[in-house]
Amino acid sequence: MQSFVIAFGVMLVIGALLGLLLAFANDKFKVEVDARLEKVTEMLPGYNCGSCGYSGCGGMAEAIVSGETDMLTCNPIKQEDRAKIVEYLASTPGPDGNTIQIKQ
Ligand code: SF4
Repeated sequence: MQSFVIAFGVMLVIGALLGLLLAFANDKFKVEVDARLEKVTEMLPGYNCGSCGYSGCGGMAEAIVSGETDMLTCNPIKQEDRAKIVEYLASTPGPDGNTIQIKQ
């Protein structure tokens, strides 16, 4: 019985230490994701045709949100949807507090 209590105690301590280690690693290595990336990807047509010069709508959204380009080069997008993206990015600050101005 005594060996069972010792083994249980050792496992409890190891579990607690590993839990603390995981909590620390989660906090230390977390990656900030710009929520605008997912929203802009949803707002694009979703054809993934590549005519914008990127591998798909996600690539176009990433290029805009990261500041790689300030041109929304999507050809099949409707003008009203294009205007919605421009307005959304101009009015929604990212994690750094800045908004994005893109050309229509
Ligand atoms: S051109 Fe438009 S629809 Fe085609 S992949 Fe690029 S963003 Fe998507």
